[in-house]
Amino acid sequence: MKASRGPFRFAVIGAGMAGILSAIKLRERGLDCVVYEKADRVGGTWRANTYPGVACDVPSQLYCYSFAQNPDWSHVFSPGGEIFEYLEDVAASFGVLESIRFGTEIERLDFRDGRWHLTTTSGETDTADVVIAATGVLHHPFVPEIDGLGRFTGPVFHSANWDHGVTLDSQRVGIVGTGSSAIQIVGAIVDQVSELRLFQRTAQWVLPMDNPAISDEDKERYRSNPDELAAARDRLGHVFADTFAAAVIDAESPHLKVLQDMCTENLEQHVDDPELRERLRPSYQAGCKRLIVSPNFYDAITRPNAGLVTDPILAVEPDGVRTADGVLHELDILILATGFRVDRFLRPITVIGPDEVHLDDLWADRPSAYLSVSIPGFPNLFLLNGPNGPVGNFSLIDVAELQFAYIMQLVQAIFDEKCSHIAATRAAAEAFEAERTAAARNTVWVTGCRSWYLDDRGIPAAWPWTMDHFRDVMREPDFADFDLRDDTAIPDASEVRR
Ligand code: NAP
Repeated sequence: MKASRGPFRFAVIGAGMAGILSAIKLRERGLDCVVYEKADRVGGTWRANTYPGVACDVPSQLYCYSFAQNPDWSHVFSPGGEIFEYLEDVAASFGVLESIRFGTEIERLDFRDGRWHLTTTSGETDTADVVIAATGVLHHPFVPEIDGLGRFTGPVFHSANWDHGVTLDSQRVGIVGTGSSAIQIVGAIVDQVSELRLFQRTAQWVLPMDNPAISDEDKERYRSNPDELAAARDRLGHVFADTFAAAVIDAESPHLKVLQDMCTENLEQHVDDPELRERLRPSYQAGCKRLIVSPNFYDAITRPNAGLVTDPILAVEPDGVRTADGVLHELDILILATGFRVDRFLRPITVIGPDEVHLDDLWADRPSAYLSVSIPGFPNLFLLNGPNGPVGNFSLIDVAELQFAYIMQLVQAIFDEKCSHIAATRAAAEAFEAERTAAARNTVWVTGCRSWYLDDRGIPAAWPWTMDHFRDVMREPDFADFDLRDDTAIPDASEVRR
């Protein structure tokens, strides 16, 4: 009989989409859980990203929980604010807000005496038997080191930290970057500002995609017939998985050729000026970088008050941005739509496992985890949307649901008293990583472009297989790939409430 220390306890870090999911599912099973959230509201990326035009390019009927489908989405691709409200509503209606400790940032995780010890930035402590890191991927803004950035006299802010106190009306606005965020911002603000300058380092393929409103009749139909909504979601999921998601993992895929043709036609049809058209034409294969989906980018960038700047940025000066051709682009506001540090995951939290092993040391080269969820040597610590997972080409909500169910099967081994601690073996993690990096070399992401998918070696830090394969491996763990340890000092599994 193991020594009892009260109910088995889960700590979840982060109350974004994956943290809310964890809290709902844990509470559903009557398990004791606390969610630590450094901000004062739920929503994660959808709370943080409030820039004009923010939206999700995964259809809304797919980008929602399977157990909380929403008949009321306003559009096929709904705005970010609506996704944020949806997440708040789900968290409230499933009663998980009371499990969340807002304004509380975890600074350290120490594995001691068989449990995880959590320390917050204000010095409070807590303990948990299992920690679920739901800390997000696109979370830490990347601010480039551009000479003179601090000397600009006007407001400068990152797209993920939008300063709503600054009015754009009739201002000269510069945007650095041409990723999904920048392209959405351009379309949303071009008519509001007096001049817009888009600083493009790399041209982007842009897939034209209408975003129709969902009619009141359709919403009513979905409301009165949830099966129809579920069927629509399934249909969309299959289309997404079988076309775009399947294409990007095979650089030779005929679907990629179709995508490239659609993007080329979009460019040819919407940009008349041949000189501008060539500057907007990418020199790499469509899909290599995350594909931009936009109904209006070319319209926006060809407006008389808009300008595309392709000479490299030399420096920021008090009055604007100086490019390598010597031109000073005078600006009132500078927006950095320069993306995220995608290799952070639960860092900057200091994580110290058994035997004083620091996660920072283990991840000194780059982060990795077995199937993205478990780190060898770090028992009972699991990640949702962790390193090298299916980012960018699937609904991350779907991914998190599958990962969560998988993690709970691992935890079940503890409840079943097969072990007290569980983590992937080093051998399994290394074999997975070798297989993954080999498969990643067949993807379109390595066909000759720079992107946030690529790690420091130029290998895609992403799931290089199909969504079906992901579903298959998430269906049930292969316990031969896990180290199951028993420690008599951990809670008695009979204490576990189910
Ligand atoms: P991103 O795709 O990483 O784009 C960052 C942009 O900043 C790139 O154009 C990059 O140029 C540029 N950049 C970075 N450093 C620079 C420098 N020193 N000088 C000049 N340019 C520089 O970031 P993001 O647009 O925020 O999007 C990140 C991801 O978030 C997306 O891929 C997507 O997964 C997600 N997202 C999705 C949506 C949506 O659903 N539609 C919207 C926003 C974000 P290079 O291309 O030359 O590197």
